Amino acid sequence: MTALNRRSLLLAALPWPALAGAAPIKPDASSALIVVDVQNCFVTGGTLPVKGGEEVVPVINKISAGFENIIVTQDWHTAGHASFASSYAGKKPFETTKLVYGTQVLWPDHCVQGSDDAALHKDLKLPTAQLIVRKGFHKGVDSYSAFEEADRKTSTGLAGYLKARGIKTLYVTGLATDFCVAWTAMDARKAGFAVFVVEDATRGIDLNGSLAAAWKAMAAKGVKRIQSADLTLT
Ligand SMILES: [Zn+2]
Repeated sequence: MTALNRRSLLLAALPWPALAGAAPIKPDASSALIVVDVQNCFVTGGTLPVKGGEEVVPVINKISAGFENIIVTQDWHTAGHASFASSYAGKKPFETTKLVYGTQVLWPDHCVQGSDDAALHKDLKLPTAQLIVRKGFHKGVDSYSAFEEADRKTSTGLAGYLKARGIKTLYVTGLATDFCVAWTAMDARKAGFAVFVVEDATRGIDLNGSLAAAWKAMAAKGVKRIQSADLTLT
C-alpha cells in the first residue's frame, strides 16, 4: 500500500457529520447563508407558486441567526422575457423551447422587475443580509443559478464577491429546490466552494421528476444535503 492510499483510507474513515447526522454543523466567519428567490412570485398567490413555498420563510429566518454573512437572490425578469411561455406564439407554460444556449423550460410570466410579485416575501426577516443578487435580467437569457446565467457564459459576479470576502462555505436555501437552488448549489461547487443545501429550508417544483433528479445531480457534484436541525446556530 502506498502512502497515498493509506492517507485516502484514513480520510475515508473519518466521520462526516452531514452524512452521519451526528455532530452538529456550525457556520463560521467564512460561511455564508444563500437565500434563493424567496419572492412573492414563488409562494401561494404568486405567478409561479411552488407548493409550500412560504413554509421556508420561518426556517430561513430561524437559521439566519447563525450566520455572519447572508446573501439574498431575486429572480428579476424583464417583461417579455425569453423564459416566459407568453413570449412565443402557441407555447404554454411548462413546455420547452430551444434557445441559442439550449433547451429552455417555459414558465408563466413571473418576477417581473419592480412588481409586487418580484418583491421578497414580506415575512422574510433578514436585516443583516449584505447583498441582494438579481438575476435573469437579460431579456434573452434565463438564470436559475445565482452564479452564472443559462448561457453558461455570463457571470453574475457572485463568485468574485464571495471570494473577495473570504467566504469558503455556502449554505443554500430557498426556492425552488430543483431549479434555482440546485443550479446555484452546483455552480457554487464548480466555483470551488463547499456547499450544503438545507433541505427543509427549500421546496421543489418537481416537474417530470425534476426534484429527485436535482438531488442526484447535486450529490454527484459534492453538494451535501442537510436539515436545519443539523446546524448549530449559536
Ligand atoms: Zn425566472
